[in-house]
Amino acid sequence: MQHYSVAVIPGDGIGPEVMQEGLKVLEAIENIHGGLRFACDQFDWNCNYYLRHGRMMPENGLNILKDYDVILLGSIGAKEVPDHISVWELILPIRRAFQQYVNLRPIKLLRGLESPLRNKGYEDLDFVVVRENTEGEYSNMGGRLHEGTPYELAVQNNVFTRHGIERVVKYAYSLAKRRRKKRVTAATKSNGINHSMPFWDEIVKEIATEHPEIETNVYHIDALSAYFITKPEEFDVVVASNLFGDILTDLGAAIGGGLGLAPSGNINPERIYPSMFEPIHGSAPDIAGKGIANPIAQIWSISLMLEHLQQMEMSQLILQGIEEVLCEGKVRTADLGGNASTIEMGEEITKRILREH
Ligand code: ATP
Ligand code: MG
Repeated sequence: MQHYSVAVIPGDGIGPEVMQEGLKVLEAIENIHGGLRFACDQFDWNCNYYLRHGRMMPENGLNILKDYDVILLGSIGAKEVPDHISVWELILPIRRAFQQYVNLRPIKLLRGLESPLRNKGYEDLDFVVVRENTEGEYSNMGGRLHEGTPYELAVQNNVFTRHGIERVVKYAYSLAKRRRKKRVTAATKSNGINHSMPFWDEIVKEIATEHPEIETNVYHIDALSAYFITKPEEFDVVVASNLFGDILTDLGAAIGGGLGLAPSGNINPERIYPSMFEPIHGSAPDIAGKGIANPIAQIWSISLMLEHLQQMEMSQLILQGIEEVLCEGKVRTADLGGNASTIEMGEEITKRILREH
């Protein structure tokens, strides 16, 4: 019997709604496998918790999470609490404390979905973006000067360290080795950002030399964004800095069928600390409480979590279940042009997974 401990943080808005469906799928996996057990503990650390306690999680929150095998997150954010609190006091401390320096975002056009790209004949869209998750453009360094004068200015420093670049690029290559196309594409902008990006390029080149069996391409971020649309079939593993990766993965979510589908993993590759899996989308306050959110991004995040736990077969089974429901086309949430509820969609996928087996 294989036991895993899972810290579940449903969060705010549609987070708890989609998490509920995700957990049904996880239960189905336990039933099918027989030898797998997930001990899930739920934590109500969200914006409501903040309004009651003045903090997003208890003082020893990170210490509590540290001992879990994995963390499953819904989404965080509510209008009563500014983003810089909800994000900076919950998600970022978790990513930082647990050295989740890889943000992994698969971009895959699922069977059964319409997409402008599929109409162009791209059946085989299946790549992954590795986004640097701890440094780069999203540093807290900089400041503003001369406010209220004609000389007013703002400076934001990019921080790139050799250690930080090396570890994420190495991860990209180790991932490419396990994939079919054996290709790494690195995003740069060394013609415009002339200190940090040439540094990034140099390190990519050094690591590329150590992996002659992997093909390496380096594109400027502007061209690369266009290629996501015009030749997405070319990509296998795309590695990018924090900001570039952020933008590329929203674009990737769009070409993969929308935010309601897109999953992500915040990975600690050394497995010293727990990794965290969450949908790319936020708490979507506009549809929260209506029961109409698409739970697929959350369910797919659980499939990613199982892949991380090296339960490949179970991970695949979930993805297959999602695809079969999409192919059948009868049960779809509003974002996919249907009128099914979150619960109907979650239960249909769960049923399908149980039946397929
Ligand atoms: P955040 O700042 O937390 O990222 P946001 O306002 O930028 O939040 P999201 O919460 O990601 O945006 O949502 C953007 C839009 O996409 C929402 O208005 C919502 O209608 C739609 N959306 C997001 N997730 C889903 C989902 N799971 N199902 C259906 N629609 C969704
Ligand atoms: Mg957003």
